Amino acid sequence: MKIRICHLYGNLMNTYGDNGNLLMLQHRAKKLGYEVETTLISLGDPFNPEDFDIVMFGGGQDYEQTIVAKDLQSKKDALIHFIEDDGVVLGICGGFQLLGRYYINAAGEKLDGIGAIDCYTNGQFDHRFIGDITIQDEETGETYVGYENHIGRTYLCKGLKPLGTVTSGNGNNDEDKTEGVHYKNVFCSYFHGPLLVRNQHLADRMIELAAQRQLSKQKES
Ligand code: GLN
Repeated sequence: MKIRICHLYGNLMNTYGDNGNLLMLQHRAKKLGYEVETTLISLGDPFNPEDFDIVMFGGGQDYEQTIVAKDLQSKKDALIHFIEDDGVVLGICGGFQLLGRYYINAAGEKLDGIGAIDCYTNGQFDHRFIGDITIQDEETGETYVGYENHIGRTYLCKGLKPLGTVTSGNGNNDEDKTEGVHYKNVFCSYFHGPLLVRNQHLADRMIELAAQRQLSKQKES
């Protein structure tokens, strides 16, 4: 089986080694016995949800995010379709923020997200959250370790589950101990470092989810 990965805006959204998540997905998929094909989908490119099993959307500075946020609206319906159809998504930091309703950046500009995830992010603060972070995934009992560097404070709307509960560090905001989000097969996080290199069990989980989904789609057709 071939795992088809979309590196969404990978040429613009790739801060703090986030591309390592892509390398890790490719590496682990091969180790688990799958072929891998990776496609960069960026400004002006159409996103066809049927072409992919995993979407990787990395982090970015406010400048890149402003450019990406505008283009993203043209892919909004297709990305929401992919997510609601149980497509596997990894959203890191700036990517996570733009999958939500909006991100208000450090300059006070409101960047519309696509609202695929019911959350929002405010970013007009005098200090960034920078440093090591550890969380516990309440669903699996797994611990994830990483490094965060963001000004945005994200708030999950009612009923949304975080990726984990913060045991050290800041996470989505410094108020509710949530970090990231887990919605259907979407995993979002503020972890750079990158997330999957330091937490192989999560990379394997994402790949197996993508493989199972592809198999059940083949059976349906
Ligand atoms: N610009 C966003 C913030 O500062 C995202 C940064 C990032 O992706 N590291 O919150």
